[in-house]
Amino acid sequence: MQTGKINVTSENIFPIIKKFLYSDHEIFLRELVSNAVDATQKLKALERRDEFKGELGDLTIRINIDPEKKTITISDRGIGMTADEVNRYINEIAFSSANEFLEKYKADVNAIIGHFGLGFYSAFMVSKKVEIYTKSYKSDAKAVHWSCEGTPEYVLEETDAKTDRGTDVILHIDDENLNFIEKSEIEKLLKKYCRFLPIPIAFGKEQKWENGKYVDTDQDKIINITEPAWTKAPTELKDEDYQEFYRTLYPIADDPLFYIHLNVDYPFNLTGILYFPKIKSNLDIQRNKIQLYCNQVFVTDSVEGIVPEFLTLLHGVLDSPDIPLNVSRSYLQSDANVKKISAHITKKVADRLQEIFKNDRPQFEQKWDNLKLFIQYGMLSDEKFNERAQSFVLFKNIDNKYFTIEEYEKLVKPNQTDKHGKLIFLYATNKVDQHTHISEVQEKGYDVLLLDGYLDIHFINKLENSLKDIRFVRVDADVPEKLIEKDDLYQSKLTDKQKEMLTPVFRSQLPEGEDFFLVTYEAFDENQMPIKITQQEFMRRMKDMSSLSGMNYYANMPNSFTVVINSNHPLITELAKKVEERCGSEIEELDKKIESKRSQLHALEEATKDKKEDEISTAQKEEIESLEKEIEQIELKKEEKLKEFGSNEKRVKQLLDLALLANNMLKGESLRAFVKRSFEFLE
Ligand code: ADP
Repeated sequence: MQTGKINVTSENIFPIIKKFLYSDHEIFLRELVSNAVDATQKLKALERRDEFKGELGDLTIRINIDPEKKTITISDRGIGMTADEVNRYINEIAFSSANEFLEKYKADVNAIIGHFGLGFYSAFMVSKKVEIYTKSYKSDAKAVHWSCEGTPEYVLEETDAKTDRGTDVILHIDDENLNFIEKSEIEKLLKKYCRFLPIPIAFGKEQKWENGKYVDTDQDKIINITEPAWTKAPTELKDEDYQEFYRTLYPIADDPLFYIHLNVDYPFNLTGILYFPKIKSNLDIQRNKIQLYCNQVFVTDSVEGIVPEFLTLLHGVLDSPDIPLNVSRSYLQSDANVKKISAHITKKVADRLQEIFKNDRPQFEQKWDNLKLFIQYGMLSDEKFNERAQSFVLFKNIDNKYFTIEEYEKLVKPNQTDKHGKLIFLYATNKVDQHTHISEVQEKGYDVLLLDGYLDIHFINKLENSLKDIRFVRVDADVPEKLIEKDDLYQSKLTDKQKEMLTPVFRSQLPEGEDFFLVTYEAFDENQMPIKITQQEFMRRMKDMSSLSGMNYYANMPNSFTVVINSNHPLITELAKKVEERCGSEIEELDKKIESKRSQLHALEEATKDKKEDEISTAQKEEIESLEKEIEQIELKKEEKLKEFGSNEKRVKQLLDLALLANNMLKGESLRAFVKRSFEFLE
């Protein structure tokens, strides 16, 4: 029997490690089962090379819990260890890595917590004592027993208690970690970390229904899939296999849209299957994530920093031994291999989309609405992907037809180029609310895109920056005649004087509240609507974008609308005539008064303009001031007179309400009053 002292500089390294790895206690099982898998695979490799000539036999790894003794045993039938190897691998190497841990911990706690590959040593995070019974595959090897109680002292002795080849690691669970003695807890951990390990792992027995309850059979329950789909060659797999594997990973998710099988071995090693999911809600994004494996051992499901952010929306599995695991996230992002892997995945995803687009456009279009968010997100956040996606990103128009950017340019170029040579892409964000504008625009032979997606506005902003001669304009940003500026066709039937009089008339009946309305006049065909309400593109887009990104500065600003009056429409010209009849002479009087006050003011200003401030007499100053006040008051009177006319003229309100209604902006009490007034018109 040999006793010894493990070569650790600090006497109490165990408690320190226990404390700092508190949150990750559960990884002990992953580490020990991976060791058992490694030992088994090493034996298989030896057999393939003819260096092991015995019988491999049943290689199943077994996990057993003994609730009475409070132990967990992990048994394998792998290569085992000789006494010498236990000395070398467990006493020296395993513990020196613990020592290394301590050194690192001194330097930078944050860099290592949570992601340190502790290996065998992690057993002490949950155990007060660990024993190993092991017998090497070598023909003359004696079985040995190693035992250690969480102090640097250990015992190593020969034993007769183990006759079979392989290793049993027995953990005597300490009092703080007794939850790991629960069957359900171990089941959960095996499912999380060991689900796709390449050697069968048995835990408990299969059950059957007998005499009204479940009872154990004598058949082992294997908890893992040893050859998951991603480890196979793509040529071996059919569509159904990919679908089935997806359901294994995410049992309650909808079927995925597409998959990508990754299979690289140079210059780095990467396998995996990624799926484009059908995302229905934010919840799905949170719940189902890409899982990262290292040689089929589960590592993490937070792959941020390893794949570009937009790809974290994908589902599936990545497996690479070339991703360093025991380092911090910020280090990961700057790792050369990780960068290459990330770029490779981006390229593959773009290639796959391109391929489906080219070979099966109907399918691509059919799934576009579900793919769109993902592709736009990628284009907005990743320049390389943006370049690649230019050829397959699609637009959908109001009639549910799909176009690439290039196709759409061709389609609208003849009709939608404005007088400055810019190509105008018209769009709507809501088919129902903007219906009036949409159909008017369509009547002019223009095409309208439907941009009702979450990222559409950001996306078109980006496109406008890269495609210099294209501008996106929402259908309600202006009247149809002016959305795409062409040469003016009509002359106004209203004089400037009439327009000036009409403005307060309409202003008197505009909705009250925060929103801002500007009244303007345009000369259109007299068969066009008399009044329309539009919303300027720039401000609206800024507001839409900032409300998405949670920046409230723009989002909280009032809306500003333009009331465009068709100065050739009979209803408007008649109204102008009526204002003239009713208020014309009075307004003229007032205008005359203003005129004379203005010329007095002008004369005074002329007389004093070359004088310094202190050379102007108080009397003169007072006169200027009072003239200005008088003019202001007459203007006010004028405005009141016209507003009074507006209030008594039911048609004014009716016209404005109809324009609001056409935009789906007439709501609540205003809508009720409108309906009531409309009935009165019918009487
Ligand atoms: P790592 O697995 O990263 O090398 P560990 O601390 O987990 O580090 O293990 C140290 C060494 O102990 C392993 O490399 C292996 O040689 C040996 N070992 C551990 N567990 C077993 C086992 N179940 N069977 C055979 N050898 C083992």
